[in-house]
Amino acid sequence: MSHAHRPWGYQPPEEGHSPDWKLHPQTEAIRAGTERSGFGETSEAMYLTSGFTYDNAEQAEHAFIDEVDHYVYSRFANPTVAMFEKRLAAIEGAEFCVATASGMAAMFASVASIASAGDRVVASASMFSSCHVVLTEILPRWGITVELVKGNDEKTWAAALTQPTKAVFIETPSNPLLEIVDIKMVSDLAHKAGAIVIVDNVMASPVLQKPLELGADVVMYSATKHIDGQGRVLGGAVLGNFEYIYEHFLPFFRHTGPAISPFNAWVLLKSLETMEMRVQRMNSNAQEIAEYLDSHENINWVRYPGIGSHPQFKIARSQMSGGGTTISFEIKGDQKRTFEIMNKLHVIDISNNLGDSKSLITHPASTTHRRLSPEVRAEMGITESVLRLSVGLEHPSDLLRDIDQAFTS
Ligand SMILES: *Cc1c(COP(=O)(O)O)cnc(C)c1O
Repeated sequence: MSHAHRPWGYQPPEEGHSPDWKLHPQTEAIRAGTERSGFGETSEAMYLTSGFTYDNAEQAEHAFIDEVDHYVYSRFANPTVAMFEKRLAAIEGAEFCVATASGMAAMFASVASIASAGDRVVASASMFSSCHVVLTEILPRWGITVELVKGNDEKTWAAALTQPTKAVFIETPSNPLLEIVDIKMVSDLAHKAGAIVIVDNVMASPVLQKPLELGADVVMYSATKHIDGQGRVLGGAVLGNFEYIYEHFLPFFRHTGPAISPFNAWVLLKSLETMEMRVQRMNSNAQEIAEYLDSHENINWVRYPGIGSHPQFKIARSQMSGGGTTISFEIKGDQKRTFEIMNKLHVIDISNNLGDSKSLITHPASTTHRRLSPEVRAEMGITESVLRLSVGLEHPSDLLRDIDQAFTS
């Protein structure tokens, strides 16, 4: 990569300090990206600054023509944000990462930065409702055609991808019903149609699924979920290769302003250090609860990618290293009965967030997916008796007991 293309603030790796072997992602999660100031602080510094100063006018001029590594403005880049970006890129195994103010800022910019009027985007139909609004209401206003495809149907994907396509957007597992899309199958078809494949990897987290290794080109996150994992800040990230990030994403990002606050980036940077352990524990708690619910007499069905009753269990097992931290299930009974059960929980909180250390339950039809029309909700399988449980870090015995007493009391 030519020096002139390096964005503001990216420093070359320090020679002499990096080991000459490839570090494990868990080691990267603790060490990657750290840039110490002259004080030699152990923990990464928080650079709460919007702007930067220059030694002289020439240095400022050079910084703007991208010839020297000097930060110019925190809308473009910031040292604390850069530490978070480098660390997440190292964990993901991506060439570059750009942090954003929220997951939706990441999602919107990931598509809007490459699609123009007249372009076609194909997406899996089951997805987070704000992503659905962006794809079906906002982008079409600017002349972008969006086609939604049933995520698990290879024939439909093949048919949709016979025409030239700019981008393919997939969410797997999907929120809230945890449908699985075969990332490799879709990536192969998409590439033949000339499309860039963007994966919303929020539900799996960087710990349990590596879309780039499966053939995807771009990964996006809501860092609000497992990356923070403690319910504190909003954030997002887009990861990809040089061509995508430099030629498409950054020119859009720098001038439209979805930059993250350095404070939020610092919180997320420190969260990455414990993410692997948190997600693994949440994943094993979720597995235990999903197995319990799978045979529960008060439940019609359970969707959890880590149990054999999941319709795409085989694909889930081949592309994820765990079933994830979220479970969806349908209560036997109507909405009133479903609300009754939610209201009886003592440990699990009613909240629409997910990926948190606290276990959270939500009724998607009346909250997170309320914005969708009843027809779209029905198509996605989100009935009035469906609940989504995000399993946290509490001891699983208390979570099982809480669920059990809510059904029986
Ligand atoms: C939460 C979420 C988003 C949006 O992230 P925000 O940080 O809330 O903007 C996008 N996709 C999925 C799958 C999500 O769960």
